[in-house]
Amino acid sequence: MFISEIYDSFQGEGPWAGTASLFVRTSGCNLRCWFCDTPYTSWDPQGDQQSLDQLAEQIAESKSPHAVITGGEPMLAPQLTELTDICRCEDKFITIETAGTVDRAVECDLMAISPKLGNSTPDDEKWAARHEQTRHQPAVIESLLRRYQCILKFVIDTQNDIFEVRDYIGAFPDVSASDVWLMPQARTAEELAQKTEWVKMAASSHGFQFSSRLHIAQFGNMRGV
Ligand code: SF4
Repeated sequence: MFISEIYDSFQGEGPWAGTASLFVRTSGCNLRCWFCDTPYTSWDPQGDQQSLDQLAEQIAESKSPHAVITGGEPMLAPQLTELTDICRCEDKFITIETAGTVDRAVECDLMAISPKLGNSTPDDEKWAARHEQTRHQPAVIESLLRRYQCILKFVIDTQNDIFEVRDYIGAFPDVSASDVWLMPQARTAEELAQKTEWVKMAASSHGFQFSSRLHIAQFGNMRGV
C-alpha cells in the first residue's frame, strides 16, 4: 500500500478527540482542497510502498486502542479492506476518515465522513473542475450512512458555510443533528483560535456538535504527530 505515514498519537477531532490512536495515513486523494492540511497526500502525494505484513507488524506493536485510517483518501487504497481486517484482528476500534466520494466494503466502527463544501474548491485551473465534479457524491453518502456508524464533519471557513451545511443535511433526513460536527478551517494554531468561538456558537445554535482540532492547536501543521 502507498503509505504516507504511520504513527501513534491522539485523535484530534470528533467524538473520540483525545483518544490514543494509531494513525495509518494512505497517500493519494481524488480531491484537491485548497486548504488541505496534508498536501503531501494530495497535491504532492508522498510515501512508501508498505506490504500488508509490514503494516500488520506495526499495528500489532501499537498500544493504542484505536486505529484511525486516514489520508489523503483512504477509500481509494487498493488493499484497504485487508488493512481493516488486520485492525479488526488486533481488536482496534477502527475509524476511517473519508471525504465520502468512494464506497468500499471495509471493517469500520466509525465512518468519519468529511464532505467537502463549495468552500474547498481550489483556484488551480487543472484541478478546479475535477474537484467540483467529484466532491459531492450523494449516492455514496447514502450508502455509507446505511451501512456504517457515521458522523458528518464539515470544515467551516466563513459564516456562509453554515447555510450550505444546513442545505446539505436537509438532503439526508435520517441524519441526526447530533451526528453533525462543525470544525474550523485552520492549518495553524492562530487560525484555529481566531475561528473557534464563532464556529462553536454556530454549531450550538443549530444543534450541531463542535469539533476542535487538537493536533493543530498543539502541533500546527507538523507531520507525524
Ligand atoms: S479530501 Fe482531505 S486529503 Fe483530500 S485534498 Fe481535501 S482535505 Fe486534503
